[in-house]
Order: sequence, then C-alpha cells, then structure tokens
Amino acid sequence: MKIIVAKTAGFCMGVKRAVDLALEHSGKAPGGIQTLGPLIHNKQTLEVLKQRGVTTLDETKQLENQTTLLVRAHGIPPSMQERYSREGHAIIDGTCPKVKTVHKVIERFRAQGYTIIITGDEGHAEVIGLLGYAGDNGILIQSADDVAKLPDLKKICLVSQTTFDRLLFDTIAGEIHKRFDSTAEIIVKKTICAATDQRQAETEIIAQQVEALIVVGGKNSANTQRLAKIGFDSGRITQHVETEEEINWDAIANCKSIGITAGASTPTWMIKRVHDYIEFMSQTHRRGIKSTLLHLISIFANLNVFVSLGAVAVYYASCYLQGFDFNVMGATIAFLYFLSMYLWNSLTSIEKTQHHGIGRYRFYHAQKKRLYIIVTATICLMLGFSFFYTTQLFYLMLFATLAGLAYHMSIVPGFLRTVVPYSTLKDIPTSRELFIALAWSTVLTFLPQVLAKSFTIDILSIALFTWIFILAYLRSLIFDLRDIEGDRIMGRETLITIIGEKRARKVILLMIWLCLATLLVVPSLLGLSIYKSTKALEFFFQIPVLFYAFVFVKWNTKIGQNRSALFNILTDGIFYLMAAGAAIAELMLK
Ligand code: SF4
Repeated sequence: MKIIVAKTAGFCMGVKRAVDLALEHSGKAPGGIQTLGPLIHNKQTLEVLKQRGVTTLDETKQLENQTTLLVRAHGIPPSMQERYSREGHAIIDGTCPKVKTVHKVIERFRAQGYTIIITGDEGHAEVIGLLGYAGDNGILIQSADDVAKLPDLKKICLVSQTTFDRLLFDTIAGEIHKRFDSTAEIIVKKTICAATDQRQAETEIIAQQVEALIVVGGKNSANTQRLAKIGFDSGRITQHVETEEEINWDAIANCKSIGITAGASTPTWMIKRVHDYIEFMSQTHRRGIKSTLLHLISIFANLNVFVSLGAVAVYYASCYLQGFDFNVMGATIAFLYFLSMYLWNSLTSIEKTQHHGIGRYRFYHAQKKRLYIIVTATICLMLGFSFFYTTQLFYLMLFATLAGLAYHMSIVPGFLRTVVPYSTLKDIPTSRELFIALAWSTVLTFLPQVLAKSFTIDILSIALFTWIFILAYLRSLIFDLRDIEGDRIMGRETLITIIGEKRARKVILLMIWLCLATLLVVPSLLGLSIYKSTKALEFFFQIPVLFYAFVFVKWNTKIGQNRSALFNILTDGIFYLMAAGAAIAELMLK
C-alpha cells in the first residue's frame, strides 16, 4: 500500500506559536493559564497541557480570578482584551501574526469609513474577533447568495477569515464586483492564509492520486472540516478522524494508495500515529515480498538492531585508528552491549515517548515480557563472554552496564530529596544525550584497548574518545530535532526543547564546523610534521562523516516525519560512514 502524507500537514506557524507560548509560560504564570476555547483541536495534547497548568474554558465562560489569559491563534475582539486587562488578568497574546494583519486591515479601512464585509463562518472564534475590530461597520457573509441581501453601500472593504474556502471567496468577490462596481468603491483583501491555501491545494492534488483520504484533526476544526470536504467532493473514500483508533480499516483495507492530510492544529505526532497505524495494518494484512521486507526493517529498527550494528562499525573504526586488530569477540560485545542498553532504555521510557511512533509503542507493549527476557539474556551473554575473556574486560563492561541500568533508577535516598531536586539521573535536563554519548565513547574507545591488553590514556585515545562522543551526541540531537514537537508537549527536557529548534540547528551546525576546524587545525598546532604522519591522515578520512552530518541536519526535515525506519538507518549512517572512512584509510594508507 502506498501512503502519501501531505507536506503541509500539521501545526501551522500560528498554532505552533500559540502552543509554544503555552508551554513556555506553563508553570510560571501565577494562578495558571486559561484559554477561551481549546488551544488546539487535539484532546490528548489538551490533556497534557492541562497537567501543566493550561486549562481550557468554554468560550462563553468568564476567566477565573487571578488567572492569566492566553489568547488563542484565532485572536479575540479588542473590547474583550481591554475588559480582561481592566479586571487585572495578565494576558499572553497568542494571536497569529497573520490574523493580526487582518485586524490591522480592518482597523485601517474602518477608520476611513469603509464597510467591512467579512467572509467567514458564523460563530467561529476568529470571525468573532474580526467583527469585534470592525465594530458597527462590520457585516458577515457566508455565501455568494448573501451578497444580494447586503444594503446599498458606498465604500466596501472585503476581507476574509484566514481559513475560509479560497474558491468561495473568489466567487463572493465576483458577486460583490457585479453588484457594486458602478455604485461603490471596492477594496478586496484576500486575507486567506497561505498555509490554509497550500493545505487545501495539496489536499486536492493528493485526493487525485489516491484511492482513499484520511483527514486527521479535530471534528470541530473548521480548516480540517474543509479538508475533509475536499476529500468527499473528490469522490474518494474519505475519513475524518481525530486519532488512529477512529480509522475504519475495513473500508480502506483493499486500497492500493492512501493519502493523509491534517488540519493546522493537528500535532505532527498524531499524524505520525495515523501513518504508523496504516503502515502497520497494511504490512500485517498483506504479505507481499515488499511489505514483508518493510515489516522486517521496522521490527529491526524498533529492536535497535541498526544502531547496535552501528556500534560494531564504530568498534571497527576505533580498532583501526588505535592500531589494534579487529576482534570478533569485541564486535560481539559491542553489539550486545548497545542492543541491551537501547532496549532497556526504550522499555523504561516507552510511556513518555509514545508520541515518537504508535508502531513502536504498540510493539513494545505487545512484546514487553519477551523484550525484558531479551535484555536480560543479552546482558548475561555479554558479561559472560567478557568474564571468560579477561577480568579487565569484565569490569569495564560491568561498569558500563550498571551505569546504563542505573540511569533510570532512583539513586537519591528519600531524606535527600528535599535538597537534591532529581531522584534519577534521567531527571536531569539534557542528561540523556550526554550519558548516551559517554557510554559510546567509553565503551568503544577502551574496548579495543582492553581486548588487546594495552590500556592507555594518551592524546590519541583522548582524540578518539572525543570524536566518538561527538558523533553519538550528534545522533541523539538529530533524533531530538525530529521529535521536538512531541517532546515539548510531553515535557521532555532535551537540549533542543530548551533552546528551541532554530537555535539548536545553529548550535549543531556550529559544532560540526568546529569539529572540522579542529580536525584540520589541531595537527598543525602539534607541529606541521604531523601532517605527514599516517595517524593524522587516518583521521582526515573521517571528514566525510562531518559533511554527511551537516547535510543531514540541514535537510533531514525533508525526510517524512513518518518514515521512522528510513530515518533511523540514515541517522545511524553517521556510524557506518565512520567505519567506511577507516576502511578506505586502511586500504589507501597501507
Ligand atoms: S492557519 Fe494561518 S492564519 Fe490561521 S493560525 Fe495558522 S498560520 Fe495563522
């Protein structure tokens, strides 16, 4: 089954901004934050926001005393804003900048004596706001027929609700010109948001390419309803769902292609859940070679097999760069260690990371017992191999395993909890990425040394340790970049959620440039002759990894959010490329 996900699906800029404001101020605003009407049309997200002190009031209700008002992206009438300010409520303005532009247009032409005709849905929050700005000069119309009911007018300014149907707007504008061209001054401002426009246009195109269309988003969301209407009008099987659980699978089971689109207030992780569900159902219900293969790949990705193989690749590079022979036992231990630790990490954090993918979530729930058995067996096997090899190796792996297991366990005694704000290591913000990178660099720098019974800490091992640390850290950051929206909503404090996506991308790119500069400049600081040394040249073969990481960080948003297995493999490509660099160096510098 071919699945096409609309590129425009998911939060639009205005909704994203409002949700970010809610998350930023939650817990800080005295008296809590209230919104008049839901901030977005997604029950799960609203539930999480509620737990974080952002509650939703019915639009007709009054704010509670001392609370902070968060104005939704739709905006509110100026009179309402003034009233709440007078009553002493703090106000966080989450009005979408594009809606604000419509407010300004209305204010400008109203001041010049124009009658403001607004095309929009009666009772919609944004329309109430627009009418508030238009005051006595405002008239709402909803269809071309309404033009005939307008009184005689001399000066007309036609604007629109930002999510209004673009074709209907054009028809209404045409009718207005027909009736008033000879008698009135007419200004038409097509204030339909491009995001809405593009979403509708893309949905029309996708509807032509598929047999069924799934529209994800709130049943009360006007812009999602419009997308569903496009689907119904196209004659395709169309389902408007809020979550994957509402999909009527029987109705689409035999379709060869399915399109997924979503409203502006549908979180990306919900779209991903819908995608994962359809993919899972199609792979489990059809057993062609391709779907079986894809199913296997996603099982391997869920089991963290690709990243564990990445550890084998890094182990090989580490052996080569340190001048040791590749040891099959070392590769096996590296594979088993990272497999067990990633599985353990996934099992213990699956509830908090369920927004990373419903396929993965279901898999871990369904296979929980078996996976715990695999973790235990893998750890025993890995420690057993180490024990029979050398005592030093056993202690290294035991230390690394205990550190990995302890990460999720409470290590601060009860009586210290009032002094120490964190009870587990994982509670420390941004700790996850650092600890993972530390595990990679410690195990994969020293494993070859211990196996070769040549434990040393010199410039070379420090450089290698740092290099592996950076690559593992980069890998974690790339995943955090992908999951930022869900992580923010679920309250996961990663470096990316703390500093924001834009800044995070800049920091990562800067990190890559610094690495490149270090690789090129440090040897010269140690003396120009080092450029002639094979050791420095061996490190130069690692430079393509940085270019790959650069390209990936810059353009990874183009890889559909939903193609998790592909995304995993491509991200782990950093490690495979490190091994490839070492292999090429080995061949060329013989
Ligand atoms: S649809 Fe457009 S106008 Fe409406 S909130 Fe989103 S970006 Fe703003």
